[in-house]
Amino acid sequence: MKRALVCGAGGFIGGHLVKKLKREGYWVRGVDIKPHEFAPTQADEFLLLDLRDPENCRRALTLGQDPIGLRRNGEPAPGPGQTFDEVYQLAADMGGMGFISVAECEVLRNNALINLNMVHHAAEMGVPRYFFSSSVCIYRDMAPDEPPLSEDEAYPAQPDNEYGWEKLYAERVAMAYGRRYGMAVRIARFENCYGPEGTWQGGREKAPAAICRKVAQAEDGGAIEVWGDGTAIRVFTYVDDLVDGIYALMQSDLEGPVNLGGEERVTVAELVQTVIAVSGKRLQVRYVPGPVGVHARNFRKDRIRSLGWEPRYTLREGIARTYAWIAEQVEATRTQVSP
Ligand code: NAD
Repeated sequence: MKRALVCGAGGFIGGHLVKKLKREGYWVRGVDIKPHEFAPTQADEFLLLDLRDPENCRRALTLGQDPIGLRRNGEPAPGPGQTFDEVYQLAADMGGMGFISVAECEVLRNNALINLNMVHHAAEMGVPRYFFSSSVCIYRDMAPDEPPLSEDEAYPAQPDNEYGWEKLYAERVAMAYGRRYGMAVRIARFENCYGPEGTWQGGREKAPAAICRKVAQAEDGGAIEVWGDGTAIRVFTYVDDLVDGIYALMQSDLEGPVNLGGEERVTVAELVQTVIAVSGKRLQVRYVPGPVGVHARNFRKDRIRSLGWEPRYTLREGIARTYAWIAEQVEATRTQVSP
């Protein structure tokens, strides 16, 4: 049985990745600074640790001790002296544009500490395979009709925000450790992931979750406000597709960063209309000033497709599942506040 460590297992994508690895038959340890907010963890063990601290990184990577914050699923825990076969590093201090535009120092400091300490200790402790979750935020802004950028065209680098600069630096650190220690490093640049069991309120939520929440909260016949003018172009990737891609990449020989996202490019206005159509409500949309990020995105996907990966969900199907889950959360919150 292979053993995997998932850093950021208390978060959105990490939580779904744990489920995927369990389905694939792994023994899984999850680690995060907080428990998962929306679903009980499926990990065999779950450690509450702050991964900015190097000692905690070593602790997360060490098998055969009896750490705090532990949950066992009845599987025998691996003994001392054994290492993880695979480490998936998804822990990050992050959120949507509303968060990363105001928390530059936290994003740069916290994420650099987590990434430097995790990769350093994983390499030193002999981990054979290491995954790093990067982002298409490492790319520059694009014109709407520009041809797609390949992974190499991240350079000369001009990310639009500090979150992207830190990710680019962390990619380079991971690759340098891979070369020095002979560790197989796999890097995916995620493109706007969405789905159930992710942050949907509080300021860190991303556009698809925020729009689903606003639509779910609106009265039929009412209006919602959306940041920007609706013309920004994005690809939105359903979380089940994303974790399938992470797994396929980790099992592959593909070195260097790999773009991971679908081919369905839509404007924010089209995303909004998809959510409204799924909700069955009649709503007006008011576009208002707010942090929106780059204008357009368009990336080549030949590398991830060379592994046979294809998204299984259309935007409409993914939004239908996400909207249903967020509408339930909104309803539960209403029930809690009303007597
Ligand atoms: P998330 O915020 O839901 O998950 C990140 C997790 O990291 C959280 O549970 C958080 O508590 C944890 N964390 C933060 N600081 C920590 C610390 N000091 N020690 C331990 N854990 C800590 O975000 P997500 O959407 O699941 O993103 C996962 C990864 O994918 C991140 O690295 C993110 O930058 C990257 N990514 C996500 C998207 C997206 O669209 N969601 C896009 C590109 C890249």
